[in-house]
Amino acid sequence: PLERPRWSRVLLKLSGEAFAADLEHPEEGPHVGLNYRTIHTIASEIVSAYRVGVEIAVVVGAGNIVRGERAAEAGMERAAADYMGMLGTVINSMALQDALEKQGVPTRVMSAIAMAEVAEPFIRRRAIRHLEKGRVVVLAAGTGNPFFTTDTAAALRANEIRAGAVLKATNVDGIYDRDPHKFQDAVRYEQLSFDECIAKNLRVMDQTAFTFCKEYDIPIVVFNIARPGNIRRVVCGEKIGTLVGN
Ligand code: UDP
Repeated sequence: PLERPRWSRVLLKLSGEAFAADLEHPEEGPHVGLNYRTIHTIASEIVSAYRVGVEIAVVVGAGNIVRGERAAEAGMERAAADYMGMLGTVINSMALQDALEKQGVPTRVMSAIAMAEVAEPFIRRRAIRHLEKGRVVVLAAGTGNPFFTTDTAAALRANEIRAGAVLKATNVDGIYDRDPHKFQDAVRYEQLSFDECIAKNLRVMDQTAFTFCKEYDIPIVVFNIARPGNIRRVVCGEKIGTLVGN
């Protein structure tokens, strides 16, 4: 049977660390900088999902370049450090755009911080238009505001562009009852409600992003980016990872 997308439009959230990992040795750190082979592979995973016929917007983090919180711990003014973090997401977005276009997929980078020479400004209706025309839209610079995260940008933009779900790519297979890296008998949840996550004290995304998705009824799928084909599987509604909804 032909694969069909479960949602017509999705928002994919990629952490910055995913761009630094060596896919042959995913556990080995430190996860800093850009691994171009990895970025090419991630792009090919996005292309494979795109070919199923789903509209894709991507929010990229910057944990591989700057984390505002870390810089602030080292004495920097938090707001300034956060702007550095947002600029880091622009670097990652440009790398992803290049890798996607090399594979024949039209893309646009839209930035929440004005940067006319490298990216379009984020204009909601324009972003939707790009998606309708079959372009992958890479959303850079988070929300454009310090003290927020790219998880929150993902939740916010998903709502703005009316995406059917936030697909949160991670380095584990989903949400577990305890840390699967530490406990061999950890059990993965296939599906959870937002309220169950709160009751069980499970961290899905950062608190602001989580609350936002709950409030506006945007399902979140947490899944492992390191397994080839997973983005496409999630898009097609295969029961991998953990689905969080109301
Ligand atoms: N950031 C910000 N506002 C936003 C999004 C990001 O200030 O709306 C900054 C913040 O300093 C953060 C950094 O950018 O630490 C990188 O984003 P994030 O930590 O979300 O990246 P990820 O963990 O997904 O790689």
